[in-house]
Amino acid sequence: MTATPRITPVTPDVMTVPRKLPESGLVNLVGLTRDAMRQALIDAGTPERQAKMRLGQIWQWIYHWGVRDFSAMTNLGKDYRALLAERFEIALPEVVSRQISADGTRKYLVRIAGGHEVETVYIPEENRGTLCISSQVGCTLTCSFCHTGTQKLVRNLTAGEIVGQIMLARDDLGEWPEAGTRNDETRLISNVVLMGMGEPLYNFDNVRDAMKIAMDGEGLTLSRRRITLSTSGVVPEIARTADEIGCLLAVSFHATTDEVRDGLVPINKKWNIETLLSALREYPKLSNSERITFEYVMLKGVNDSDEDARRLVKLIRGIPAKINLIPFNEWPGAPYERSSWARIEAFAEIIYQAGYASPIRKPRGEDIMAACGQLKSATERARKSRAEIAAEAGLASGA
Ligand code: SAH
Ligand code: SF4
Repeated sequence: MTATPRITPVTPDVMTVPRKLPESGLVNLVGLTRDAMRQALIDAGTPERQAKMRLGQIWQWIYHWGVRDFSAMTNLGKDYRALLAERFEIALPEVVSRQISADGTRKYLVRIAGGHEVETVYIPEENRGTLCISSQVGCTLTCSFCHTGTQKLVRNLTAGEIVGQIMLARDDLGEWPEAGTRNDETRLISNVVLMGMGEPLYNFDNVRDAMKIAMDGEGLTLSRRRITLSTSGVVPEIARTADEIGCLLAVSFHATTDEVRDGLVPINKKWNIETLLSALREYPKLSNSERITFEYVMLKGVNDSDEDARRLVKLIRGIPAKINLIPFNEWPGAPYERSSWARIEAFAEIIYQAGYASPIRKPRGEDIMAACGQLKSATERARKSRAEIAAEAGLASGA
């Protein structure tokens, strides 16, 4: 018997549901790239010479006006609308529940095909509104301070389910422009962050397609500088993110020595701090973007000393950066405590004195468990076993 070569997949092979959903038998147009939608229209019988124009019209109905019904697409002929309705649907994931926090934060529990659930959070602020979206049900990684990390990965979200979260939040906030006008100035959702459930760079293609749709100038028109993708440090996909998405990057840094980071963000055993920093150094050039956000969760007695702060600024020297300090959001059974405010402020001051912006993230939506790292759908109760956690944490050892 010949030995099977060892292949370490960069992206774990996780099942994604086909776009053609068995329930309706219709192809969902939401989530198809422009090219894919054009091809789908041709396959459905749209003459090739008309395809570009039809694509433009339908695209605008879906992503600019928020229309879900082909019969409302008044610049298309009646027969053509009927043909579309026979073949296609414009479907979003279903909002199962919506909770509104005392501070105005809204958490949506969203059901996707197969009955799984993810969470989407809308955070209104004075001069912007940020939508925090999920990219996976659960997460394959097991960061020890993260509630999502205790939930098994169930599957990757499709591009339609990712961009669909932006659309369903627009529905809820009533933010589609009025038909017949081109007024699109409301922008309750001015920013999107991929900081919900899951590791976006382990679902690269779907995240990229969804963000391309979100950035498309004929539709949702979110600027690439208003989209931030947060990664725990999937190094091989960082240059691709610059190249193929071009959005802003945030990285879950959280520690200043490999020893501590190995324990908090186990992917560090595969790609350590130095390897991560070299990839990050290239990012601004490659993506022609501004600063990288270093996320740093403040855990009492673990990573929050003055020495850590000093080491941090040394490590990131030369990288255009902002350090976002996140007071640990506690969850039932969490093995850590939040650093004291005085400690967080002292840490922030050292970084600030070294010349970096060091905002402390204001915890939002804590009363509805909507804060960073607290997302975990109640229905996916399966917890990872100790063996699974150990196996995943050791994912570096053989690689
Ligand atoms: N998987 C990606 C994005 C989702 S997590 C990532 O890890 O970057 C979004 C941010 O919240 C990350 O910086 C993550 O480390 C942080 N986070 C996770 N759990 C947290 C918690 N309990 N309190 C505060 N921040 C947390
Ligand atoms: Fe996954 Fe991010 Fe949570 Fe780590 S912090 S377990 S990568 S969602």
